[in-house]
Amino acid sequence: MTDNGMTRRHFIKNSLVGALAVSPLSVAGGCAGARVDLKSELAEIDRNHDRMAINQSYLDAYDFDNCIECGECLHGCIYKDLDEEQAIENIVKMREGDVDVCEEMLDQCALCYKCDHRCPVDARPAALMLERLHDRRNRENGVPLSMRYFINGMESKGWDQNLFRDLYTDHNEEEQKILEKWSEPKDCGDGDLLWCSCAVRIFPYDIEHSQVLADLQKFGGKSDCCGLAAFRSGLYDVSRYLTNNLIDRLSECRFKRLVVMCGSCQEMFQMSTPTYFGQEFPFEVISVYQYIEEQMQKGKAHIKRQVSDEIKGDACISHSCFACEFGDDYLESLKRLYRQVGFDCAELAHTGENNACCGMGGYYRKGNFWDILDVKGVKKQDLKKSEKEHIVSYCYGCYFTTHLFHGGTTHFLLEKLLWALGDEIKYPMSGLLGRSLNFSNMWHMMKIGPSALF
Ligand code: SF4
Ligand code: SF4
Repeated sequence: MTDNGMTRRHFIKNSLVGALAVSPLSVAGGCAGARVDLKSELAEIDRNHDRMAINQSYLDAYDFDNCIECGECLHGCIYKDLDEEQAIENIVKMREGDVDVCEEMLDQCALCYKCDHRCPVDARPAALMLERLHDRRNRENGVPLSMRYFINGMESKGWDQNLFRDLYTDHNEEEQKILEKWSEPKDCGDGDLLWCSCAVRIFPYDIEHSQVLADLQKFGGKSDCCGLAAFRSGLYDVSRYLTNNLIDRLSECRFKRLVVMCGSCQEMFQMSTPTYFGQEFPFEVISVYQYIEEQMQKGKAHIKRQVSDEIKGDACISHSCFACEFGDDYLESLKRLYRQVGFDCAELAHTGENNACCGMGGYYRKGNFWDILDVKGVKKQDLKKSEKEHIVSYCYGCYFTTHLFHGGTTHFLLEKLLWALGDEIKYPMSGLLGRSLNFSNMWHMMKIGPSALF
């Protein structure tokens, strides 16, 4: 049951259906990974009008008829080097589904949705890019192993190896107990529920023991996933399936607002699910940063320490792909919090509606590391030009990618903020690499190696 007595039935009725978990899927083996066909099952579910998702593909979110084929979406893209004429020619061919042009454009895409802001008629060209990525997935001999390994929540459908679940095997006994506790449904009454996503669960101890977050009950089992990685990888049906499962799990809880720590989850809940699946979540979603600022305004949390003066003036903000989607208030709130921690952060050259991706967007092209290195190039140049040593991210994905693939000293805003407000950080997220050096993770990484590299 959710807020204000909303029953599980109503919750699901108003959202996507969660009953998929009990139905078998057709899963076939393939040399590049099992092919999962969820379409027929979702179609079966959608026969029930109460439970129907309005949209059935990425293309449903693209205003195909109103596109004036001006090419602005491709022409202004910082990952492409196209003049106006080439951009017009390419968008026309992409709309027609010309495979060669689609492949070329996808190999220069970070799936960052920024082209939506350039479209003069709000046709949402990012949906076309995602649809063409979906076409690419369909042309492949099964979902690439490396991509399957990265997407959590599919083990019941045969995707039995997963990066996050491998990372969780490194947890000590106390951390394991925390995850077991988080997995249980929570009754928060009219209060807030803290959603603990795949990335958050890698380091659960400091979140569980945070004084700043002590009023929040925490929720998120090992396989609960918002579906964004699948969504951005062109796997529309897998994403719908994962979102359905999460809705089903959330419907066992009672709460008023869902507090999210991960930018990807926030994007999925606030933007992609309503826009691309045609569904609204029947509860309010807020960022953990908004929650913490509220706590500070109520006098429940106070700044007790700040980063040193040396770091203060030598730091820059690394924005996430989605930040500008959440509006100016969100960005202003983040900047206030940066200043509270002591960071006098500089903005990078590409920011706002022209923000550069950390590199992670490249992974969604084919599931390999080379594309991360390719996409991160623009931000790498921005970081170099800034001449700042300290890079501060507020999104889990950006932090991990920046930490692993960029130079400089990296910081995660949430961790630093909790520290500034008095929490002790026992397991800093800079220990990610150490956490991944366990047998299960190393073994599976070796097995997926060729798929992740080429
Ligand atoms: S999604 Fe991003 S990278 Fe891809 S075309 Fe649009 S703006 Fe360019
Ligand atoms: S910017 Fe919009 S109208 Fe112009 S080609 Fe792209 S999708 Fe069509």
